[in-house]
Amino acid sequence: MPPNRPQLTVVGSANLDLVVRCERFPLPGETVTDAAFERHPGGKGANQAVAASRLGAEVRFVGCVGRDNFAEEALSGLREAGVDLDLQAADAPTGVALITVDSQGETEIVVAPGANGELTPEFDVSGPVLCQLEIPVAAVAAAAEQATFFCLNAAPSRPLPRPTLERADVIVVNRHELEALGETRGLVALTLGAEGAVLLENGEEIARARPPTVEAVDGTAAGDAFAACLVVSLLEGRPREEALARACTAGALAASRPGAQPSLPSAAEVDSVVGT
Ligand code: ADP
Repeated sequence: MPPNRPQLTVVGSANLDLVVRCERFPLPGETVTDAAFERHPGGKGANQAVAASRLGAEVRFVGCVGRDNFAEEALSGLREAGVDLDLQAADAPTGVALITVDSQGETEIVVAPGANGELTPEFDVSGPVLCQLEIPVAAVAAAAEQATFFCLNAAPSRPLPRPTLERADVIVVNRHELEALGETRGLVALTLGAEGAVLLENGEEIARARPPTVEAVDGTAAGDAFAACLVVSLLEGRPREEALARACTAGALAASRPGAQPSLPSAAEVDSVVGT
């Protein structure tokens, strides 16, 4: 039986990912000329909003884009997924990620946050909220204060005021991000790549899940699929162990397919792996 449909607001970043695929990375000062070019909507905020929508939530996205012709393209995945948009416009350029992928699948990424860095705390949110750290800390703090259930994917790592961290009902991190956070109380979901994830409560392990074995093709949005699925599953009222197992499966499915937003799984796909 499908659980009740949760509502979720994602306050976060939207980028246009500009991807070049080449045989090998250029050395500093070198030019390589064999690359193929692609462009895709991205950004952790937009990725997680699209993921939550595919997983069955009714999603609203709060973010900031530039007054330029990258903005609509950066938002295109959100629009296709039926996410309700609550946007600010800035004079800064729309956020861009310059991604170089070599023939081994290794990546080098340079992010120019642009308008994402201009998101002001002047928004109203209510109900459950999911944030990442590609937007100003003041915006994250405002979201944390207004949320009835606050989930923080503390990525990429950056210093946060204690009260904001303490508002989090659940924090999602990988090993590096956990180290950067320091001592954290409350509920923490720690992702371990192909090893899966553990749930910690006040530093003690309370649950562990392994993802299905997949052939990893592109791990770009695995963490985004994981965070969105964990929150949506908890909001659906599923037990923590089940939410963790579903999140691991969503991450693995995303890792097994190319691209960021196109690789994000639906609720039915997660169900078909873990059962309902
Ligand atoms: P991040 O990219 O944020 O560091 P992880 O690499 O830990 O995140 O991936 C998030 C989740 O995605 C993991 O907990 C796991 O469930 C799933 N995942 C990632 N890579 C793989 C993989 N190679 N095989 C199976 N599952 C994976």
